[in-house]
Amino acid sequence: MATQNKNQEMPNEHLHELFVDELRDILGAEKQLLKGLKKLSAAAGSETLKKAFDTHYGQTEGQIERLKQVFSTIGLSARGKKCKAMEGLLEEADEIVESFQDQPEVLDAALISAAQKVEHYEIASYGCLVTYAKLMEHNEAEELLAATLAEEKDTDSLLTEIAMNEANTGAAA
Ligand code: FE
Ligand code: FE
Ligand code: FE
Repeated sequence: MATQNKNQEMPNEHLHELFVDELRDILGAEKQLLKGLKKLSAAAGSETLKKAFDTHYGQTEGQIERLKQVFSTIGLSARGKKCKAMEGLLEEADEIVESFQDQPEVLDAALISAAQKVEHYEIASYGCLVTYAKLMEHNEAEELLAATLAEEKDTDSLLTEIAMNEANTGAAA
């Protein structure tokens, strides 16, 4: 029986470590993204797209607050670490702006593509975090993380909608 108990506890311990590590990564990523969203908004031609980036800037600030709450529900101080993936995604976004800034008809489509890559990274991260919180029965953390996951998915859908309505038709013309 003792062995069985041990087997049940071990994965949880490791899962907790992974949970905290991923929380730190996404906290770093969200902070890095604030600057990125400013640049995306500044580069956007369409008012709708600019507004979408600005709205998501505000949501991202809220998501950072939510992550701080998540840390506090598990008794840890909120500490982020540099997310290398976000750094790379934002570097690519910079390259895109540079490559297409003289072609306003494609620039918005390119910005949407860069932003959706970011959102998909976040959706994967928060999706896993929600699952870990559920498995460890951190109910409050699960709720907070699920709220952010829903915002990231909504943002992704909104960007698709803008692409369908404006940006891609401009690029295809
Ligand atoms: Fe986010
Ligand atoms: Fe990361
Ligand atoms: Fe996001």
